[in-house]
Amino acid sequence: MAINIYNTLTRKKEPFQPLEEGKVKMYVCGPTVYNYIHIGNARPAIVFDTVRRYFEYRGYDVHYVLNFTDVDDKLIKASNEMGEGVTDIANRFITAYKEDVGALGVKEAVDHPRVTENMDEIISFIQGLIDKGFAYEAGGDVYFRTRSFDQYGKLSHQSIDELRSGSRIEVGDKKEDPLDFTLWKDAKEGEITWESPWGSGRPGWHIECSAMAKKYLGDTIDIHAGGQDLTFPHHENEIAQSEAHNGESFARYWMHNGYINIDNEKMSKSLGNFILAHDLVKKHDPQVIRFFMLSVQYRHPINFSDELLKGAKSSFDRIKNAYENIQHRKNSTMSLKEDQSEWLDKVAGYKEQFIKEMDDDFNTANAISVLFDLTKAANLYLQEEQTHEKVLTAFEELFEELTGVLGIQLQAQEELLDEEVDALIEERKQARKNRDFARADEIRDELKDRSIILEDTSQGTRWKRG
Ligand SMILES: [Zn+2]
Repeated sequence: MAINIYNTLTRKKEPFQPLEEGKVKMYVCGPTVYNYIHIGNARPAIVFDTVRRYFEYRGYDVHYVLNFTDVDDKLIKASNEMGEGVTDIANRFITAYKEDVGALGVKEAVDHPRVTENMDEIISFIQGLIDKGFAYEAGGDVYFRTRSFDQYGKLSHQSIDELRSGSRIEVGDKKEDPLDFTLWKDAKEGEITWESPWGSGRPGWHIECSAMAKKYLGDTIDIHAGGQDLTFPHHENEIAQSEAHNGESFARYWMHNGYINIDNEKMSKSLGNFILAHDLVKKHDPQVIRFFMLSVQYRHPINFSDELLKGAKSSFDRIKNAYENIQHRKNSTMSLKEDQSEWLDKVAGYKEQFIKEMDDDFNTANAISVLFDLTKAANLYLQEEQTHEKVLTAFEELFEELTGVLGIQLQAQEELLDEEVDALIEERKQARKNRDFARADEIRDELKDRSIILEDTSQGTRWKRG
């Protein structure tokens, strides 16, 4: 059975067919790193991580790319307000992002490209668009000539004429047409800038994703994903840029997650209901937050409240208790010879059902219902007079397997032994020597998760248990 994905482009569920056998090329629009992320940003991080995990579970090799927008108006504003360099702010919030989503069980992307590290590719992409007549320079800015791309509007299902009637040229605009959008911005006094054929300046927002998707994944990718609010204009503009430039179809499947509301209201700073993921993971068990986020299918809106989170916790505990009771029984009973194959069949049936639900556009809500069915069955089985080790193991393994697909861990983490800590510290030292900073950071984070605190001194790295 194929995995079916709702494609925003066609407004239909379609069976997934990879460009390359066994591989998924997936690009997810990441955060602008000028602040801690709010829970609205945590949702795409969790749901698309789950999509990735499910593909991996089904045997695909997923090349997962998530970008960081590390220069834009918001970052420049934050830099002026805080009196701190744009790069320093970006570095700080990229680290915070990785920590916060890491706590929520989100795996690191294969590539985490940053705008400032891909400036050459971005500039040459813009130049390519100018050369083909899809873009033009105007007084130090460069704009995309939207009307030159006749399929503009195909993702958000709007016609160019409709879009045009709603927009007009502002006074002082350098654009030829109101629908044209910025690819390159002329430098303003005191801003961070890069040299380009059009003078010093910096890129617009949309162009980064087209340039980085091409560099890391190629002209055509399998899946492009992001929040629903990115459909227009961001993703529409990405399609126009990429397809005009590359002459190939850009992404085959477009996935968008729904909004998050707080107490049935839209989250906004002015309403004072703005919740940072950074604060939330400190107050609540991150596993429960993740479980809660997955309790609704990703395309639907989700409502968040303390009450609902409490409910998620008790649901999560029900699953966890059943799992632990199964484990406990396994340790306390001897293996019986009696045949209980009907129970083994039953357990296998839940796995099949779970896969069926996830194949249906990653319906985690229904997949979690299957976990509850498994929980009920486990509790029922534990009431049998005689239990069999084989059946107990089948339950135990299926609990671990299915929650693992959702990025949730039921097993209590065992404490690391001193030798294991020392070995990881040695590996980190080697990784840093080889300039493999990603691995070095990963080890530091892993140790941090296990409550091991590192202190780098001139005599080497010391550690203690936190
Ligand atoms: Zn993007």
